[in-house]
Amino acid sequence: LEIPQWRDFVAKVKDIFEETKKINEGDVARYIPQLARQNPKWFGFSMCTIDGSRCHLGDSKVPFCLQSVSKAFNYAAVSTDIGYEAIHKYIGHEPSGRLFNEICLDSEMKPHNPMINAGAIIVTSLIKTKWPMAERFDFIIEKYRKLAGTYPVEFNNATFLSERDTADRNYALAYFMKENKCFPHSEIMNLREELELYFQLCSLECNCETLSVMAATLANGGVNPLTYVRCMSPEACRDALSLMFSCGMYDLSGRFAFQVGLPAKSGVSGAIMVVIPSVLGMSIFSPLLDRTGNSTRGVAFCRNFIKHFSFHNYDHL
Ligand code: GLU
Repeated sequence: LEIPQWRDFVAKVKDIFEETKKINEGDVARYIPQLARQNPKWFGFSMCTIDGSRCHLGDSKVPFCLQSVSKAFNYAAVSTDIGYEAIHKYIGHEPSGRLFNEICLDSEMKPHNPMINAGAIIVTSLIKTKWPMAERFDFIIEKYRKLAGTYPVEFNNATFLSERDTADRNYALAYFMKENKCFPHSEIMNLREELELYFQLCSLECNCETLSVMAATLANGGVNPLTYVRCMSPEACRDALSLMFSCGMYDLSGRFAFQVGLPAKSGVSGAIMVVIPSVLGMSIFSPLLDRTGNSTRGVAFCRNFIKHFSFHNYDHL
């Protein structure tokens, strides 16, 4: 698919953005102060096409932590590094139909998928397993920076410290998985350190501009559209997008796939990344969340966008 009239397209996207801005429903996440303090008025949008055209609207430069959006990138990075089989020996592919942080495993006693906490913690443990913690963190943040090209990716230490201090559920989940032998390398693993790396990745910080380029890199099969650097294997991108399509939006995933028909991943900070494969990547940031934990304006924007542009996976039948 091509976008022949970029200027007309941008003008319409602006209209949709302004329309969506009027929505004020939802509430900011309150489990840590760094998220509770987010300005409910913030609303940013960015998109980047696979040939590098970009559009930024509203608060597109306001920094936010990636939270669960990181799960998609971590999965693609690990899959590029060690391959599909090495991951899915330990993690399933099915939507769980349960809360993102619920203490549950599938019938094979594996996490349901890599987009919920259980699966994401296992994915984290597969990041350069035998390396020192500092090297593992550097490996992954360098991946993020390659995905983002010229745009910044930072680490928010206050968010990390808060995440670590309010982590009872994630600890419980990790011990439950350890008990059930879910971890590939439990003999050499320090559970606390693995969880800390998981929290650090939730605390990586960027803005809409950065996230749209990262999403565009996924849309482009793993090659950054601005630097032309290959960051991920095409297979890893395909797999990450498949899982985003079925499991990326918490307990709205089925409905989002139905209504919007695009792979997406959301986080409790109010960020959503959406990928139109082989066309563009986009990011929406608005901290007001609905009851499923997804950005209210983000979801509304996507629904509205699909009403105007036929990018739904099954639009061209
Ligand atoms: N950092 C939180 C957790 O792992 C929330 C992540 C999210 O859903 O965005 O529990």
